[in-house]
Order: sequence, then structure tokens, then C-alpha cells
Amino acid sequence: MGLSHLFTFVDQISNWNTLMLEKVVIANRGEIALRILRACKELGIKTVAVHSTADRDLKHVLLADETVCIGPAPSVKSYLNVPAIIAAAEVTGADAIHPGYGFLSENADFAEQVEVSGFTFIGPTADVIRLMGDKVSAINAMKKAGVPCVPGSDGPLGTDMVKNKQIANRIGYPVIIKASGGGGGRGMRVVRNDESLEESIAMTKAEAKAAFNNDMVYMEKYLENPRHVEIQVIADTHGNAVYLAERDCSMQRRHQKVLEEAPAPGITEEIRRDIGQRCANACIEIGYRGAGTFEFLYEDGKFYFIEMNTRVQVEHPVTEMITGVDIVKEQLRVASGLPLSVKQEDIKVHGHAIECRINAEDPKTFLPSPGKIAHLHSPGGLGVRWDSHVYAGYTVPPHYDSMIAKLIVHADTREGAIRRMQNALAETIIDGIKTNIPLQNLILEDENFQKGGTNIHYLEKKLGMGE
Ligand code: ADP
Repeated sequence: MGLSHLFTFVDQISNWNTLMLEKVVIANRGEIALRILRACKELGIKTVAVHSTADRDLKHVLLADETVCIGPAPSVKSYLNVPAIIAAAEVTGADAIHPGYGFLSENADFAEQVEVSGFTFIGPTADVIRLMGDKVSAINAMKKAGVPCVPGSDGPLGTDMVKNKQIANRIGYPVIIKASGGGGGRGMRVVRNDESLEESIAMTKAEAKAAFNNDMVYMEKYLENPRHVEIQVIADTHGNAVYLAERDCSMQRRHQKVLEEAPAPGITEEIRRDIGQRCANACIEIGYRGAGTFEFLYEDGKFYFIEMNTRVQVEHPVTEMITGVDIVKEQLRVASGLPLSVKQEDIKVHGHAIECRINAEDPKTFLPSPGKIAHLHSPGGLGVRWDSHVYAGYTVPPHYDSMIAKLIVHADTREGAIRRMQNALAETIIDGIKTNIPLQNLILEDENFQKGGTNIHYLEKKLGMGE
């Protein structure tokens, strides 16, 4: 490189750096907080780790430029404590807040408070979070945007039972009654005939009122044996939106994902392009900003939208591995007001990636197993990624989610990825607490999983949990 070129290059870099956010508050904990910290560091963005009193020893807290304790161990007093988080941004002179996943990440009121207080919320606008957070309004918006939805009541159910029965018969039993404000797999009930319809609606309404303070319920066709296939999207504020292929997250227990993979078995480039483009277009239509996921049930070759997650997801790394796109860096770029660094035509699927969530829990009873990690050896080698905040001597606190690591592998083929994951798990040593590694091994050696394309009930049936 000639001297003049070098100067232009340096100039561009420094110029580009000044365009980025300068200091970000990471309003989360665990592996995702570390993931965000790593992306910030690579982009030259300063970091503020806000943490509870139970989390002083978290890896990202030790690595952050600044730290602020925002309250005691219970999440309601710390990671959900909006005034404390905003105050931390204020006193450290930060310019943005990254909410990660869980906690306040999909709380529209928080996003609004952040922006009203003069900071950038790293995610979509509060209005869009609100639109997608209410399932009835989300489904209506998606239908309008050309995203395929589950046949349903097209709006909230009223009190007229004659009409409700007509709707159920038009859709065809079995149907599912769902709370519009629902989340976390709660507030839904399957109905198989006219006789139990009235009672089921009443019960779901009562539950929804108690759990979400919103008794609006709607009805949709109950799909008996679907897979869970989701599309990753990312949109900037310059009118660009791209889809980053799909993930299959059908391996679930109690609606909690256990193992995820990308691409989804059996999804061809043609199918991917069709559904992906619809999702990207929908982003533009609703004014979406940042990373997001369209969740679908997939049955008999058809996609049915169920909800959108307006944040980064736990399983985002499998998408990163097959596309080479750093989703968290793109979030930071978008929040800085820069255009996406990738164009749709540049995004190609390479090989296959699998993620195993490693939880501190008993592999048989699934009860959490917090405590001190006496000894730790993480796996490595070509195509092996270990996203984790834990280390030898670290004590897993009992107050939060039990996930302690994500092990992600990437290989040329799905078969190769399964083999690589098995080897990586065999290398992993976590002593002192129980983990679900035996459960992950059980899945990986399952004949039907190896064939690919098992549905969302498969794991529970295998574990003898059935319906
Ligand atoms: P939540 O926001 O509570 O996670 P979702 O709408 O995403 O609610 O649904 C959670 C889970 O419930 C889905 O992953 C699926 O297992 C099941 N489910 C939801 N809607 C249907 C449906 N129409 N048919 C079959 N299963 C469904």
C-alpha cells in the first residue's frame, strides 16, 4: 500500500469510528452481556456494565471499561430497575443502551424511557415494539405485509358464543385460544370441539387477565405437528432490510429451546428466498430498525407466522456461523445511524451450524443446579465456538436463568456438525454443578434427529412427557 493510500485508509477508519456510538450501557448479564461487550470492543466503543450485587464477578463486569451496581440480586430490583439503568447511563455519560435478550429487551415503555431521556435504545422504536408485542396487532400487521399467518379469528374474540362457534368451525377443530398479550408459552389452550369452546375461552381470558392484565384473546388453527422455523432479519434506518436465512428451533422442552440449528433441514434456497423476502419487506413496511426474528410454525411445507421477537436472540450465533455476518455489530452500526454493512445478494449460506444450550440443571429432573464451578475445561478446535461467561471458580447464582454457556459448532455438512458437536461436548468438563450435557448427547445420537426435521413435540415425547 502506498503512503497516500495508507493515509486515506487511516482517515476512513478514524472517520468511521467517529460515526459510531461512543459508549454503550450493557443492560443485561451472563453470556449475552459478554457477547455485546466483545462486539463493542472490536468497534472501539466503550462499555458500561450494569450489574446486581450478585453479579460482581461476572466476566464482562471484570472486562468492562466502567461498572455500575444497579441493585440487589432479584431482577426486579436490578436488571428490571428502569430508573437505575437510565441513571447509570446518565452518570457514565453513555450514549446508548443495549438491552440484550430477556429482561427489558421487549419492554416498549423502557425503550421509550431510554429515548425520552436522551439515549439511543439499541433495538426498534417503542411504537414498533408495542405493535409486535400485542399478538393481535402483530398478526394484522403481518397479514397486511404479505407474511403468511395461521388461519384464525382475524381479531379478538367477543362474547357472542354463536359467532365464536362459527369462527371455530370455519377454521376447523382443533383450534387454539391465545392471549393477545401472552408470552413465555403461557396463556393458551387447545380446543377440540364445540362443547369445550365456551369454557376454554373463559379460562384463557381469566388467566390472561391475571398474568398479563389484558384479557383479550383470539383464536387460530391448532397445528398438530409443526416444526419451529424462524427467520433472522436486520434493518437499518436508511430503508434497507435483509434476511439472514432461517434457524430450526424445534428441539424444545416446555416451550424452551434446547438445541438450535441453521439452516433448517429441508429448506431449499427457493423457499428461503420467498419467506425471507416477505419478512424483509415486512420490516420496511412497519418501519423496523435493528435485529429481529420472525417466528413461524412450519408444517407440510407451509410457514405460519406466530410472533416476532424484536431483539437479538439466544440462538443468533448459528446464523452468524453460516452467513459470516456479526449480528451484534450490525445492531451497533444500525443504532449509530450507519447503513447495514451487508447487502442481500452478498448473504450466502455456508455449511451447517448447531448450538447446544448448556444449562446448570439436573439432566433428569431439570431442576436448576446453581453453585461453584470447581473445574472447567471448554472445548475448542476448528469450527467450535464457546460463548460463555463462566470460568473455574465462578459461582452460578440461583437468581437467574440457568443457561451458563452456548456451544456452537460449524461444519461443511449437517452430519459433520453433529459429529463435531459430539466431540466438543465430550471435551467439555464442568465440575461442581450438574449440567444438561447428557440431555444434549441424547439428542445428538437420536436417529430421527440425525435424519433432520423432527417437530416441536419430539423431545417431550422422547422424554416420556407426551401431552
Ligand atoms: P409465546 O409468546 O408465549 O412464546 P407463541 O405464540 O410464540 O407464544 O407460541 C408458543 C408456542 O406455542 C409455539 O412455539 C408452539 O409450540 C405453540 N403454539 C402456538 N400457536 C400454535 C398453533 N397455532 N398451533 C400449534 N402450536 C402452537
